[in-house]
Amino acid sequence: MAAPQEKRSSEERKHRGIPNGAQTSQGQWGRAWEVDWFSLASIIFLLMFAPLIVYYFVMSCDQYQCSLVRPLVDLLLGNARLSDIWDKTPPLTYKAAGIYVLWVTFQVILYAFVPDFCHKFLPGYVGGVQEGAVTPAGVVNKYEINGLQAWIITHVLWFANAYYFHWFSPTIIFDNWIPLLWCANILGYVVSTFAMIKGYFFPTNAKDCKFTGNFFYDYMMGIEFNPRIGKWFDFKLFFNGRPGIVAWTLINLSYAAKQQELYGQVTNSMILVNVLQGIYVLDFFWNEAWYLKTIDICHDHFGWYLGWGDCVWLPYLYTLQGLYLVYHPVQLGTANAMGILILGLVGYYIFRATNHQKDLFRRTNGNCKIWGKKPGYIECSYVSVDGTKYYSKLMTSGFWGWARHFNYTGDLMGSLAYCLACGFAHLLPYFYIVYMGILLTHRCLRDEHRCFSKYGKDWKRYTAQVPYRLLPGVF
Ligand code: NDP
Repeated sequence: MAAPQEKRSSEERKHRGIPNGAQTSQGQWGRAWEVDWFSLASIIFLLMFAPLIVYYFVMSCDQYQCSLVRPLVDLLLGNARLSDIWDKTPPLTYKAAGIYVLWVTFQVILYAFVPDFCHKFLPGYVGGVQEGAVTPAGVVNKYEINGLQAWIITHVLWFANAYYFHWFSPTIIFDNWIPLLWCANILGYVVSTFAMIKGYFFPTNAKDCKFTGNFFYDYMMGIEFNPRIGKWFDFKLFFNGRPGIVAWTLINLSYAAKQQELYGQVTNSMILVNVLQGIYVLDFFWNEAWYLKTIDICHDHFGWYLGWGDCVWLPYLYTLQGLYLVYHPVQLGTANAMGILILGLVGYYIFRATNHQKDLFRRTNGNCKIWGKKPGYIECSYVSVDGTKYYSKLMTSGFWGWARHFNYTGDLMGSLAYCLACGFAHLLPYFYIVYMGILLTHRCLRDEHRCFSKYGKDWKRYTAQVPYRLLPGVF
């Protein structure tokens, strides 16, 4: 599959140059240049409260059996003071710091020093050196795609340890969960601050930097587009995929091991959460080359939002269902378990098929079949900051003809399935579907704003032909 991708990139770069002076506002696509008061207020809110939200969720499991309401009630009724809760919180330990440093170092080694081998023997897998999309400054970065390999090596070692070597307990992650939270926060803040300083003093590509003049916005949303150390260590690809997403499945395995230790069995709900989230994670690594064309890599700059978010928010909040099930081991009836499995798998199918349709369409420049027919599309053009005009296409067939973000709809169905596996006794496991609902709805709006800035009237023609965002006839 490497060859068609190269073809796609070269075809997309077929363009006619227009004079620099003739640059239009279309050249300013990418993240915002100016900060309105609402964005600023949201950013300050998130910078202040997102770390507290993560702490609150994890603490409520540790001290209140995953009840989100009881800590608040205790505080309001004067049964507990903030200092009581804080005093019961496990501190940073040398052991956790050692585990975390070893973990991140191991992932850096797998990412930066072990070239991909999987694409040599796995049919259909795209790995090794791949090209990213054209950046606003007209740069095409190369990436070493070896995430699947890193995931496999890490998990083989995990199972080898659990069943053979016994170097450490498989419950090690659960047992050090809060001390590890402090380590993840330290890394998240260090990397975001470093990225900000780097953006000012030694950016990888100065033309792809954005300065709004607002410190908070720049810190949160990032200055540099693709910060790198050396030729290959790409911050966005590393922090987005590893250590957070490789860890996701290990964290869930650690929760399953804890259930086994505490109750002598692993419940079917825990197996469902492990399997459905495992498919999602494996899908991510199998399609890592495709991921180079998603919003995170193509459009977001690297700041606290991605740096801290990937180190702390993702591993701690995306795994809440498994954590909950350690405290509340739910055994589902067969019909409920089957219903949840089907919802999760159908959601996954829609998510994958929709993403695949766009990838196929873009790779072949529209010369493909979608649902057995040649796809319909809208021709569009855009201008990069150096004034070069590019041509592209927006597909109007398949799931992309049903709604403009049907991949998000599939993702939401899968997310709901993870939550339902936990039953209805507590709110905490449902955080994920609420969060994904907000994230993906906001992402729809953000993406459409960006696409409109990029494609102008061509985007309007597309939205006239495909009028709904997530659910045909509803939204
Ligand atoms: P998309 O993969 O939907 O990419 C959007 C981009 O695709 C647009 O910016 C545009 O880019 C292009 N595009 C839009 N419409 C069309 C069309 N009709 N034909 C061809 N190209 C089109 O979005 P994301 O990158 O946000 O999401 C990728 C996946 O990742 C989704 O399935 C999402 O659910 C998932 N995701 C998961 C998250 C999680 O935390 N679990 C978080 C975010 C995403 P261009 O400029 O190239 O035209």
